Amino acid sequence: MSADADCLFCKIVAGDVPATVVHETATTLAFRDINPVAPTHVLVVPRSHHPNAAALAAAEPTVAADLLTSAQAIADAEGISGYRLVFNTGADAGQTVFHAHLHVLGGETMGWPA
Ligand code: AMP
Ligand code: ZN
Repeated sequence: MSADADCLFCKIVAGDVPATVVHETATTLAFRDINPVAPTHVLVVPRSHHPNAAALAAAEPTVAADLLTSAQAIADAEGISGYRLVFNTGADAGQTVFHAHLHVLGGETMGWPA
């Protein structure tokens, strides 16, 4: 899906809103979360606009997989030995930005459940 003019992450992908970019590919962009909840907290987004991860996977499954490949590359670059991946999907799960994004969390020993 093409960019949504009202979407914050589309604006970051376009370079119209600044972000601390840590990794990019032809299909993905990764930048630091503005409100980190772990020492490493990076968001990986598809360059194309989809409202959530399920919609992305249905429309562009290879790009959904690219998010996972990017997450490993980010973990390698950050030098973290483990990480947690989160897709908040829907407002009830705490999703606040409706452009698919993968949270990459790590850099500390993490409990489970959180
Ligand atoms: P979610 O709650 O899963 O929709 O996650 C949205 C995330 O985007 C939150 O963790 C926010 O802290 C983060 N966020 C919001 N605005 C920005 C921004 N301008 N740059 C980087 N991260 C942001
Ligand atoms: Zn978007």
